[in-house]
Amino acid sequence: MFRGTLIRSGNNAKTVKGDKLGGYETAIMYLAPFNLAGSNVCPMAEQAGCVAGCLNTAGRGRMSNVQLARVKKTKRYLADRVEFMQQLAIDLEAFERYCARKGVKPAVRLNGTSDIQWEVAHPVHRHMPQGLWRFKNVFEAFPEIQFYDYTKVYKRVYRDLPANYRLVLSYSAAHSAYSDAVVEAAAKTGANIAVVYRDKAIRDNMMPSGDALGYDDGFKRIYRQVIDGDSDDMRFLDPTGVIVGLYAKGAARHDRSGFVVG
Ligand code: SF4
Repeated sequence: MFRGTLIRSGNNAKTVKGDKLGGYETAIMYLAPFNLAGSNVCPMAEQAGCVAGCLNTAGRGRMSNVQLARVKKTKRYLADRVEFMQQLAIDLEAFERYCARKGVKPAVRLNGTSDIQWEVAHPVHRHMPQGLWRFKNVFEAFPEIQFYDYTKVYKRVYRDLPANYRLVLSYSAAHSAYSDAVVEAAAKTGANIAVVYRDKAIRDNMMPSGDALGYDDGFKRIYRQVIDGDSDDMRFLDPTGVIVGLYAKGAARHDRSGFVVG
C-alpha cells in the first residue's frame, strides 16, 4: 500500500484485484469533481449529465472526511498548479521507488474523480542526473509509469497522446450532441468507450451481443465487443475497439440523466 500526499494505492478493490493478475500496482489520485472545490475540473460533466451519478459518492467517497480531503487537494491544485505539479512529481518518484522495491510495475490514474487534461498545460520538473529538467507533462517525465484515465473530454483522444497514457472515452446519452461526438471520436481514433449500465445483469446481457449502443448509420456503426470493465481497472491492457462495460454504483444507480444506460 503506497501513501503519497496526492496519490495512493491499495484502497480500491478493483485496482487491487487487477494488480494481482498483471504484476502491477495502481495508484489513483482522487480530487473533488466538477465545481465542488470552487472551479470546474470536469469540463464536459454538464453535457454528459454525470455530476449527480459521479463515482465521487461510491464506496469510501461517501464519507465526509474523504470528501473534505478531496476538496482540499483540489483547492491546492487550483491555487498553485506549479506547486501542485511539484508535489505530484515527488509522489510519482516515491511511487516508482516503492514499486521497484516490491518488484511490480507502476500504474497511475490521475483522474480518479476529475477530468483534467494532464497532457496539455501541465509541465513538470524532475531531478535528472544532468540536473533539474523541465518536461512537457508527467507522461514524458515518468516514461516508466503506465498512466491511464477515463475521460468525457472527447477531443483529448484526437491528440497525439504519449505512448504511456491510455485514455478511455466515457459514454453518456444525456445529450445527443455529446453521445454522437463520443461515438464519432471512438470511430475515428479507435479509442475504447466505457459505458455504465444500470445493473450488472444489463451489462452481462450486452457482453455476448456487442450491440451496446445501437448506432447503425454510417461511420457511427460501432458494433463493438463489450468486455467486463468491473473485474479490474487495467484499461491499458484492454484490446482496442471494445466497449468497456461497467455497472452503476453509488448514486449512479438512481441516475436518470442518460449517463447510466438501460
Ligand atoms: S463522472 Fe467524471 S467527469 Fe463526471 S463529474 Fe464525476 S469525475 Fe467529473
